[in-house]
Amino acid sequence: MVFQEEHITEIGKKLHQAGMKLTPQRRATVNTLLKYQTKHLSAEELFTLIKLEEPEIGLATVYRTLDLLTELQIVERVTFDDGVARYDLRRADQQHFHHHLLCSVCGKVEEIHEDLLGEVENEVLRKYGFTVQDHRLTFHGVCEACSRKERYQDQG
Ligand SMILES: [Zn+2]
Ligand SMILES: [Zn+2]
Repeated sequence: MVFQEEHITEIGKKLHQAGMKLTPQRRATVNTLLKYQTKHLSAEELFTLIKLEEPEIGLATVYRTLDLLTELQIVERVTFDDGVARYDLRRADQQHFHHHLLCSVCGKVEEIHEDLLGEVENEVLRKYGFTVQDHRLTFHGVCEACSRKERYQDQG
């Protein structure tokens, strides 16, 4: 995928600016994050997948790489209801971190990539003199598939 290659080059540049190299281990980690970018995987889940590409890699290296990528704001650490830290790639073309929709019935996490908060941010600036640079937003509720099922059961 061309887009994926471009994204990796972009991340390689960021690492380089921070004085780091895109080692094979880091490359495999970034590759896996890109491949599963809407899956919100934990470090252990990522480790299992990265090993397919880079069998020699150890869990400690994966943790260190994820810490480094988090520090450089290439990935975000997100936590949902199960309290497990998961890793989520920031989109290069987006100024703000995307929002999440967490279904309380099936536990599915969907992403919203539109910002939607422009007016709220202006309001915060106006009322509190606070300039919003970023945000973490998780909407808790019931997803479309689960709502449909509930409706169906109500009728039955
Ligand atoms: Zn996400
Ligand atoms: Zn659901």
